[in-house]
Amino acid sequence: MEGFQNEMKMEFSAISQNEGFARVSVGAFVAELNPTVDELADIKTAVSEAVTNCIIHGYEQKEGDIWIRCGILGNVVEISVTDTGKGIKDIALAREPLFTTKPELERSGMGFAFMEAFMDEVEVVSEPGKGTCVTMRKAIGEGQMA
Ligand code: ATP
Ligand code: MG
Repeated sequence: MEGFQNEMKMEFSAISQNEGFARVSVGAFVAELNPTVDELADIKTAVSEAVTNCIIHGYEQKEGDIWIRCGILGNVVEISVTDTGKGIKDIALAREPLFTTKPELERSGMGFAFMEAFMDEVEVVSEPGKGTCVTMRKAIGEGQMA
């Protein structure tokens, strides 16, 4: 996905008030692809899950920043959500449905499962102590990416 036709980058404080800002901003950027109501809802939900994870897990509700980068190439949107928080020790385990490290906060462990269900591809790069980058791709208007 090098060489996007259109690209957007944003940086904002890792506070829950910005979850809505992030999902609306990405939704507005993606509008040029004329997504259906369902496709738009899927993208916004995936962005919310990734941003919430940065706030709750990456920074454990302490101070931090979140970066979102959005690119469009053809009918595919690529969205990456990055934090420089605590990182993930076992990425494969973290991605399993129902796995959570914060059951005490009544997290259900379904965030990554939703991202995978709603987007065509989800890549997670993370290093303990350094942070996490979740990159998601979705083809608009043609069903699943090949
Ligand atoms: P839910 O999303 O249902 O509220 P959850 O956030 O625990 O629960 P997932 O979103 O699937 O579930 O994430 C699974 C686990 O992966 C988290 O419990 C956490 O340990 C780890 N994790 C996810 N994102 C991050 C992140 N940005 N930084 C550090 N750890 C993360
Ligand atoms: Mg989550």
